[in-house]
Amino acid sequence: MVEPVFEAGRLVADARSVVALTGAGISTDSGIPDFRGPQGLWTRNPEAERLSDISHYLADPEVRRRSWVSRLDAPAWSAKPNPGHLALARLERTGHLDWLLTQNIDGLHQMAGNSPERVVELHGTMRDCICMNCGDRRPMPDVLTRVRAGESDPPCEVCGGILKSATVSFGQQLDPANLRTAELAVREADVLLAVGTSLGVYPVAALVPISVRFGARLVIVNAEPTPFDDLADVVLRNNISEVLPTIADSLAESA
Ligand code: NAD
Repeated sequence: MVEPVFEAGRLVADARSVVALTGAGISTDSGIPDFRGPQGLWTRNPEAERLSDISHYLADPEVRRRSWVSRLDAPAWSAKPNPGHLALARLERTGHLDWLLTQNIDGLHQMAGNSPERVVELHGTMRDCICMNCGDRRPMPDVLTRVRAGESDPPCEVCGGILKSATVSFGQQLDPANLRTAELAVREADVLLAVGTSLGVYPVAALVPISVRFGARLVIVNAEPTPFDDLADVVLRNNISEVLPTIADSLAESA
């Protein structure tokens, strides 16, 4: 019997179009905690999930002040891509990955070498800051410099509005163009690799059954069960940092 990880490699090797959908689990080995894994930020502090709704952020200056403090210290600022990210970059370089759809906001896929135009950041990015009033957008480090200098809730320099990281909070819409690109990608895919995501956040989670309905084979790489395991051709519960390099190696060997 073929080991499941090699079965996943074979599916990728035989596919015309491969799409990866990643979540926080691919970045835990870079030192960035996920939300719902056993050590997840929300598993340990359910109150943090409630406060992540955009309505609290807009209404309560104290929530914003706390958010700015946690942005200053975010582990992503010093994080480096791990072997899981690097394996996905290798898949793209060797022609085995067409699109990388990510729920992550940490920018590590681009840092690992995936082409920015092939990475769709469905939940935005923490590396930019956006004004909730006028839409002015600028690099997050510029605004964090103001926070370090003493502004605990820095207003927009253009219009005085509330600033926030360019991420999608609960209660905010995803960028419709990004969602459309992702939907088209998963419909075209022969193989969908769902990696490090609990697949509990919509509308992104819905991309999985859409892809399967349009004929994709589904490979799930996640330590814990997901609601879509029954739809999968292969489910791998091992560590992402080991599984993805093994898949990339198996493709190199079969080339
Ligand atoms: P999640 O926290 O809901 O689920 C992560 C899953 O990954 C868990 O089921 C966990 O068991 C699994 N996992 C963790 N480390 C793993 C490893 N090394 N190997 C195998 N499996 C592993 O994450 P989600 O589904 O992406 O949803 C959370 C939301 O939080 C997303 O919208 C995302 O934007 C955001 N988020 C992003 C980051 C980031 O950018 N790195 C970090 C935390 C949360």
